[in-house]
Amino acid sequence: MKKELLTVIVPCYNEQESLFYFYEEIVKIAEQMKSLNFEFLFVNDGSKDQTLSIIKELSHKDKRVRYVSFSRNFGKEAAMYAGLEHSKGDYVTLMDADLQDPPALLIEMYSAIKNDGYDVVGTRRVTRKGEPPIRSFFARCFYKLINRMSKVEMVDGARDYRLMTRQVVDAILSLKEYNRYSKGLFSFVGFDTKWIEYENVKRVAGETKWSFWKLFIYALNGITAFSTVPLILSGVIGILFCLISFIAIIVIIIKTLTVGDPTVGWPSLVCIIFFVSGVQLFCIGIMGQYLSKTYLETKHRPIYVVKETDKN
Ligand code: UDP
Ligand code: MG
Repeated sequence: MKKELLTVIVPCYNEQESLFYFYEEIVKIAEQMKSLNFEFLFVNDGSKDQTLSIIKELSHKDKRVRYVSFSRNFGKEAAMYAGLEHSKGDYVTLMDADLQDPPALLIEMYSAIKNDGYDVVGTRRVTRKGEPPIRSFFARCFYKLINRMSKVEMVDGARDYRLMTRQVVDAILSLKEYNRYSKGLFSFVGFDTKWIEYENVKRVAGETKWSFWKLFIYALNGITAFSTVPLILSGVIGILFCLISFIAIIVIIIKTLTVGDPTVGWPSLVCIIFFVSGVQLFCIGIMGQYLSKTYLETKHRPIYVVKETDKN
């Protein structure tokens, strides 16, 4: 019987320090999973260091190593999408290059798909050890918020590290949106998913590519991509303010008719004007977010641009 193929997709952005450790580890796991053929697909996301030359070196040594290299940095979402598009495997896994996604879990993940009939096995960090506490705090708030607002469930601590069957990969590839938020896309396509939990692992080398600001923008992107509740919210706030002002007008009319209108209270008036115009700007901002996303989607720009692959 022909052996099935497992593709390991590795998005890499400035990972020269971690690549060798990663390659060593993944090869060890591949040796333990003898019933499968492996394909290691590195996606170089416009790295400015030696990442690409290290990948090329690996591909000369090892026929299983393939690569796709972008013309510039397009972000991890684009790198994952490119990996999925170029993967040939019957099973596909997405793994970070920094060994924060323990390759050893792959054995258990594969067995869940092969023996227990799952379509997807996802991984979840149950601790956020080694992460700045403020970041963990905001991450938790974000998951609470987005799960209230979106019908698609987002699992707190879920990683992009997962093993999928070809059917699931094709389903994800059929979602061609430009503003990609993979955690949501993975839940959106559904399928029987098993979650494996593990403790947070520190990066083997190099530094995280995510600043607080980048994560904040990414979180906003996740909300606007998977929920329209903010739009409803801005409408509700508008109605609320109309009601309040309507009641206030009636109160003022009655007051003027009964006790007259001494001209006092302009500071409070200024405060109210500031407050209401603030709310208006906020609501316009929310609408602007959705509009800008729609604008970008209608341009139909490619999600990434390839400069070279292992074939040339
Ligand atoms: N990454 C990428 N493009 C980017 C940023 C990150 O391909 O613009 C890759 C990075 O090389 C790594 C993975 O995405 O393999 C996760 O990045 P990182 O470890 O910096 O994120 P963290 O684990 O801190 O969330
Ligand atoms: Mg990492």
